[in-house]
Formats: sequence, structure tokens, C-alpha cells
Amino acid sequence: MSPQLKLIVLALSLAFAIPLQSQDKVISDALKRIDSNRIQAHINRLASFGTRHALSTGKKRGIVEAGKWIKKHFEKCAASSSGRMLVRYDSFDPRKFARGDRLALSKLKVKEIRSVLAILHGSEPERVIVVSGHYDSRASKRNDVTTDAPGANDDGSGTAAVMELARVLATVETKATIIFAALTAEEQGLWGAKNLAQQMDKSQVQVEAMITNDIIGGAKDKNGKNEEFVVRVFSQGRPQARRNSHERVKRLARVPSESDSPSRQWARYLADAAATYVPKMKIRLIFRLDRFLRGGDHRPFTELGYAALRMTEAKENFTQQHQDPRIENGIRYGDFPENVDPAYIARVARINAAAILSLARAPRPPAAAYISSRLSNNTNLSWKSVPGAKSYRILMRRTHEPTWTKSRNVGLVLKCELEESKDDWLFAVQARDEANHESLPTFAIPGR
Ligand SMILES: [Zn+2]
Repeated sequence: MSPQLKLIVLALSLAFAIPLQSQDKVISDALKRIDSNRIQAHINRLASFGTRHALSTGKKRGIVEAGKWIKKHFEKCAASSSGRMLVRYDSFDPRKFARGDRLALSKLKVKEIRSVLAILHGSEPERVIVVSGHYDSRASKRNDVTTDAPGANDDGSGTAAVMELARVLATVETKATIIFAALTAEEQGLWGAKNLAQQMDKSQVQVEAMITNDIIGGAKDKNGKNEEFVVRVFSQGRPQARRNSHERVKRLARVPSESDSPSRQWARYLADAAATYVPKMKIRLIFRLDRFLRGGDHRPFTELGYAALRMTEAKENFTQQHQDPRIENGIRYGDFPENVDPAYIARVARINAAAILSLARAPRPPAAAYISSRLSNNTNLSWKSVPGAKSYRILMRRTHEPTWTKSRNVGLVLKCELEESKDDWLFAVQARDEANHESLPTFAIPGR
């Protein structure tokens, strides 16, 4: 072989070493049905409620009417789900979360606020995937319940994407249950997300993954620039455990790797699904909980030790977020429907669908994976068996690398020996079914 040919072969084998998920026609067909026109229509309608402030009231205006309208849409989706989709409000007293916020408390004549949920039951219903947007909006002042707050991008975009995902996914068979959530009171302090995350924790269901779509409108920044084929995915690394942290968080905090939290595994998994099904889009993995000084609905889930992500457009326009509609020095402030790009939102919704369906149609991940503590230059891995798994796949990367770079299918076994050294590499194990749907990776830790 000539030296050039050798180089080409080497380059090719490296290219194929990147672990890509295999295509499922059911998933690629579902992606094609995501419709940008419907997304734009949802955003226009959401903006038409005037304000969707979480504590707003009114008969034609306000969040109560918006909530009813979203519920009706979910009910239409449920009609095509063969009885698998249930729709309900998640109602709670806002004073549960407003403690310490005196300004909000003084306005709290409202005794009940509500998120809207569509729950699509899978054949393994105790496994749950949550996909959310927040349907509340805000003006310049956080507790201003009357000024117009069209909230087209923040977060009409995420809400519309979730509504369209509910419609398209309602007819797809899954193993895991998917909860489509239009959450309330994100702008007040993530109240809707906190309420839902706490219920998930109490009900002992296994939240396998959560994703919030918040500001995915594809806005142009103040220089008229955007990156229409890039989306940012935020994920937290190893959590810090405090004395009052959840047991799950304390366990994760002891994992001997900075970048192998469940949220990071979910972020890498989503990037793989995007590369497989939506190759036009580039995922910008951002290894931090959120943007500088900002927050989102994935946080309460992260704080309970669940795998949770945030998706946000590549460039933001801050004259169009949390602003009273007005014109000042020639700049039009406010979050209007004409500033969002429905084709961009549809692409982000397709990435959601690709990742959620890949996961929901796959077996559950191994409950644990271990690296033997025997001193040697090889690595002995073992893992817990997964019901329904037809084979297992090992993922590997060097310790300084952000994403998995090598994979090996090992068949239907529960242990294997690899020549890569446990000192130099990180390892995880995925379960696969007969159609090669892959579970989330379980990171291998020292043991047995
Ligand atoms: Zn938001």
C-alpha cells in the first residue's frame, strides 16, 4: 500500500470510529411530518393572548386562556394516539414557590396556576422522558401582569415546538413514556418545572431524560446575524453535593470523572441522534448548566440528579427578550412573532424528536457498569443486564476528549476485557435491542 493510500485508509477508519446511531425509518418518517407552518401559527396564536404572565387573569387575554387553548390542542393530539395520550393540567398554589419574593406575594391574588401536560404512555411506562417549553411570558418588570408580553421567542418558540412534537409523536410506538409539558411560571423562578420535577421524584418514576426548549426562535442578533444551522445544548457536569442535596446527587458527585454526569451523557446522545437524523444542523455542546447569569426549566431536574438539557438558539437578541413593546432610539423592543424563524424552530424540533424517539424506542440503560480494580494495563468491564437487550456496546474516549470517539459491539455478554488502559480511557456501556436502538450510556465506575 502506498503511503498516501495508507493515510486515506487511516482517515477513513478514524471517521468510522465515531459512534453514530443507526437509522430507524419510523423515526426519520416522524421527523418529516414536523411542520414549520403549524409552528408559526402556534406562535402567532400564543402572542395574541396579549400577555401570558404566569399571574395574569382575564377572559380573552392572559395565561388562563392560553392554557385552555394549549390543552385543547393536546386533546386533539390525544385523539390520534389510540388511547395512549392523556392530557391534564398540573395545578398548584403559586405561594408554594413565591416564599421570599415579597413583590410577587403582594400581587398574589391568584391562588392556582397551571402547567399543561400531555402524557404519551409507552410499553415501559415507569420510564419517563420529559420535553418542555414554558408558555408564560414577561414584560420588562418581572411582576408586571398587565403590559403586553407577546413572548414569541421566549418561549412561544419552545411551547410551539412541544405542541408540534405532541402532534407528530402521538402516533409513534415507544417503550418509554413521553411527557410533553407546557410549563408555567418559568419567568417567576422556574415554578412549573420545580412542581413537575418534585412530583416525578415523589412518584418514583425513573426520569431517564429531560429537555427544555427555551428561546429556540433563531432570532437575528442586533447586527442582523444569526447561525441558522447551529443550536446550543447546555448540560451540567458532575454536580456539587450539599448537605441537603438529593441522595441521587450525592451519588453522582462521587463519580470519578468531571464530565460524565447523566446530563452530559444525554447531551452527547442527543448530538449523535442529531448527526444521524438532522445532519444539516450543528450541535454546539456547551458544558455548563446555562448561559451566563441565566436559568431555565432543566435546572430543577438537574438539581434532583436527573439527566436534563437546555436547547437555545445560537445567537440571542436581548432587545427582544423581557422587554415592554416600544420604540426607543429607533430600536423596536419586544418579543414579536415576526422575529422568529419557523424553519429554524422546526429543525430544532426535529433534533428533539430524533433524540427523544431514539431513547424512547431503546431499552433502558444498564443499572450500573463497573471497571475491575485489578491492577493491569487492560480494562475489565462488567455491567448489569437489561431486560430486552439483544447486545451491548462499549463507548470509549480519552480522558481529555469531550465526546465518545470509539465504540465496540460486544454482543450479548455482561463482561468483557479491553486492551485500552483504564488509566488512559473512560468507558460507558449501552444496551441495544434487535433493531439496534441504543440506550443512554451508563458510565463505568470502579467496582467488583
Ligand atoms: Zn425563557
